[in-house]
Amino acid sequence: MKVYTLGGYEEVGKNMTAVEVDGEVVIFDMGYDMESVVSSEGQVDEMTTNQSLDIGAVPEDEPVLDKNVVGIVIGHGHLDHVGGIPKLAGSHDCPIYCTPYTGKIVERMIEDDRKNVDNQLITLDKGEEMEISGKFTLEFAHVNHSIPDATLSLLDTPEGYVVYGNDMKIDRSPVIEETTDVERLKEVGEEGVELMIPGTTRVDEPGRARSEKSVEVELEDVLNSCYQAGGAVIMSTFSSQISRLNSIIEANNGRRKIAFVGRSLKEYVESAEELGLIDTGQIEVVSYFDECDELMSRVDGERNEWLVVATGNQGEKGAQLDKIASGTYGFDFEEGDHVIFSSQVIPSPVNEANRYELEKKMEEKGVRIYPGIHTTGHAHKEDHRDFIHFLQPNNIIPSHGTIQKLGDYVELAREEDYSLGDDVFVSENGKCIDLEEASL
Ligand SMILES: [Zn+2]
Repeated sequence: MKVYTLGGYEEVGKNMTAVEVDGEVVIFDMGYDMESVVSSEGQVDEMTTNQSLDIGAVPEDEPVLDKNVVGIVIGHGHLDHVGGIPKLAGSHDCPIYCTPYTGKIVERMIEDDRKNVDNQLITLDKGEEMEISGKFTLEFAHVNHSIPDATLSLLDTPEGYVVYGNDMKIDRSPVIEETTDVERLKEVGEEGVELMIPGTTRVDEPGRARSEKSVEVELEDVLNSCYQAGGAVIMSTFSSQISRLNSIIEANNGRRKIAFVGRSLKEYVESAEELGLIDTGQIEVVSYFDECDELMSRVDGERNEWLVVATGNQGEKGAQLDKIASGTYGFDFEEGDHVIFSSQVIPSPVNEANRYELEKKMEEKGVRIYPGIHTTGHAHKEDHRDFIHFLQPNNIIPSHGTIQKLGDYVELAREEDYSLGDDVFVSENGKCIDLEEASL
């Protein structure tokens, strides 16, 4: 078995890994690098494949271009896992496989990019098995993450299972979906896992990742205090985090009218609603300028009646929260209004600077700010240890992290009796690891 570690081995972002067994290749994920995308002047949608490769926005896929790729398997719908599809998938004459919610995001990405990507899109429900070639059978196992329909990809190969788990945690008190399918993972572990490829984004955090339910309790608590004090309440979270949006509705408990403001919120929520993951029957969802202006003008006159959820929690320039804070619409912050961030700043200099400026703008107007009402969608160290125990992989190649995070994962693997270069490997973007050679 050869493993091409194409992207996500030197950064948090642009994930892409390919596995080759007996001349057939499966690609896991085609993501883009958020930071290159944010800091690039041009819109990535408008760029050609070569332009996106040049700025490092998508993984360099040259090592697998002339290979017999039989499937592109997508674990979940975050942009660092699907964002490269419009640029890279068209090079391979094979289907894209994913779960239904991820499928809706992939369809929209391809549409928005207007590129000639004509790969067939095949959606599988979790637990459903599909023979994707003479050699490979694919199944998606349910895991908790910060977007619906996230999975561990289980690829049954002639050399044992490959388990691609690039973003997952174990939430024992989830809000809208079940807990990670631990029983299925244990079964696969018994059958024999040749290789596990886990994401390492939060392996450097001790203990376990907190549950979504605990965030819901905190949200209710902070809303209670804001409602008691009175004034406008504006909240921001990640648009794809549908479980959090449900928690916000739950914590509000019918006390104020709710509005969702922003294009990405509208898109993710529409897709979720089609699959029955959220009910926006009582919610105003707006995205066009005139709609947002009209809505925010009403909020201005009825400050104690609305809970507004807006895009732009990273402080991105031009996102809705930035527009609201800049007085773009018929709404102005007044002293004692509230802004709640149900999110965390994704650590990068650009994000940190944007968010600092946004908060400063609001603080000057006397806005009260509540940051960090949030939990991560990524496994902490002890969650990772559980995944090792459940799956008992023969080999591990940690991914989705900087060299420090990959190193932290290796430390954990060593505690579990793995040894570096023997059965746990630190790779780099563009490298190939031959597990047969490694075991000699
Ligand atoms: Zn993710």
